[in-house]
Amino acid sequence: MSDQCLFCGIVAGDVPNVRVAEDDDTYAFMDINPAADGHLLVVPKRHSTDLLDISPSDLAAVTVAAQRIAKVAVAELGADGVNLLNCCGAEAWQTVFHFHLHVVPRYADKTKDKLLLPWVPTPGDEGTITALGERLSAAL
Ligand code: 5GP
Ligand code: ZN
Repeated sequence: MSDQCLFCGIVAGDVPNVRVAEDDDTYAFMDINPAADGHLLVVPKRHSTDLLDISPSDLAAVTVAAQRIAKVAVAELGADGVNLLNCCGAEAWQTVFHFHLHVVPRYADKTKDKLLLPWVPTPGDEGTITALGERLSAAL
């Protein structure tokens, strides 16, 4: 628990929120700026800053909860798909520094869905791809 953290405040019930589900380790609530109908966030109850900071057990708990909720959201809301999204670091669009997974139901009906692919997929340089892959493989 961090006194300064918005999502710790939500987990503690000190900050108003629309609760969706919770268990011993995780809490899920609706996002106030939904990218699509039903957009919600799943967080660990124990504070961790981001993907690089969260414990493997809390990461597993949040991911399993997100899958359970995603299945229900797709069925209940009649979604056509779902994205799980995590942003780690300000440069990667993280704005709240308490780990969270976005669960974003996706719809063919674009009146319910504002999310767009944020880059235009184009082939990368083959040599660079291979060199970076080999470097990461060696580091692992
Ligand atoms: P990030 O940009 O860190 O991946 O995502 C943070 C998310 O938290 C955003 O989608 C934003 O809309 C949501 N958010 C920010 N402040 C609040 C709040 O006070 N309540 C709720 N429910 N969501 C919030
Ligand atoms: Zn927190």
